Formats: sequence, structure tokens, C-alpha cells
Amino acid sequence: MKQTAKKQNTSLIIAVVLVIVSFLIAVKLLSNVVTEHYDSEIIVCLDAGHGGTDVGATSTDGKRYEKDDNLRLTLKVRDELEAMGIKTVLTREEDETVSLKDRCKTANKKRADLFVSLHRNSSAKGTGIEAWIAKRPKDAENKVAKELTKAVSEATGLEDRGVKKGFRDSSANNYYVNANTRMPSVLLEVAFISSEKDNKAFDENFDAMAEKIAKVIYDAVQN
Ligand SMILES: [Zn+2]
Repeated sequence: MKQTAKKQNTSLIIAVVLVIVSFLIAVKLLSNVVTEHYDSEIIVCLDAGHGGTDVGATSTDGKRYEKDDNLRLTLKVRDELEAMGIKTVLTREEDETVSLKDRCKTANKKRADLFVSLHRNSSAKGTGIEAWIAKRPKDAENKVAKELTKAVSEATGLEDRGVKKGFRDSSANNYYVNANTRMPSVLLEVAFISSEKDNKAFDENFDAMAEKIAKVIYDAVQN
């Protein structure tokens, strides 16, 4: 009698284990299907530079923060892209501190097809638009970066300073986001926040600029 009860218990345990294993296999198969579906979708990661305690560069009167311009432009570009049917993921959607590591993690985890980081430039006398890509760029980076500076230059009437490789402060390095994202990645410096002329052009042509950036991104991810 005791022996039978033990046998029954063993059978029950085996049955429970089988159910759990089957469930786990089903979940795994289902997640593969979801991942494949995800992969077929085009996703653009937009990165509003700086944020929160990191204000970025400031205007000469100290009243204007780069982080705010970056976010405003990012949100507008996002709206334009979503309207064109392109799925986007943002590294931040509000004024918050986000590490460079987490920004790359967001893009890599979502397996974005393109990463575009939006910034404002700063220097004593600088004016115009420039883009930064890695020293050894991934395929397509040079082309999309070139088109982005051209488009923003056209929208604002400001000088196209072209595409630069590496990192502004040290020729041996890359910008962190360009080095640590797995997809083509461009850091776009949208006019100088240190220049009153550039700020005026940024504000007056804001919508046109966002539309042109979105159009370049749209064309780039179609190929
Ligand atoms: Zn910046």
C-alpha cells in the first residue's frame, strides 16, 4: 500500500515536470516567433543628447541649454517619422539623466536599424552643421551623415561643415554612442548654441529642419 502511494507520487512529479518543460518549450518557440517578427520591422533609435543634470552646452547668456533643444528636436523628428510609418525608440523622452551606456543599450536591445544622436554644437566662433561618425565607419554611416548635414544646412541656411570621423577632443577615440551601438550611428550637431545667428536659424526653421531630418532617416532605412 505504502509502495503504491510512493509510485503515484513519483508519477505525479514526473507529470508536473513534463507540463513545466512543455510550457517552457512553448514559451521559447513563441518568443522566437515574436523576435523574428520584430526583426522584420524597421526601428530607428533617436537619442536626445544630454538631459537632467547634464545640461550640455549653453548659450552665451547662459539661458539656453543644449539638452532642451536636443529633446525638442528629437520629439519633433519622432513625430515626423511615426507619421511616415517608421517605428522609433527614444533614449529619453523627458528631461532626465541617462548614461551613455544606457543609451546604447536601448538601441542595441531593440535592434534598431539606425541610431541618430541629436546635439547642439558649441565653440567661441563656430557656426553651421556637422556630423560625427566612427573612425572606421560602418556601412552607410558616411552617406546618411552627409545627407543629414546637407538637409539641415538647406533647412536653416547655415553652413554645411560636413562629416567628421572620430571624437572632437581626441583623434584616437570615437564618440561613445558611435563606438558602442551595433547599428549605423550618426551624431548630428545641429548648429551652434554658442552663436546667436545659429540659434535664430534653429528656432525659425525648426519644423522644416525636423521634417528634413526625418526624410533623410526615412530614405536611409528603406534601403
Ligand atoms: Zn552635446
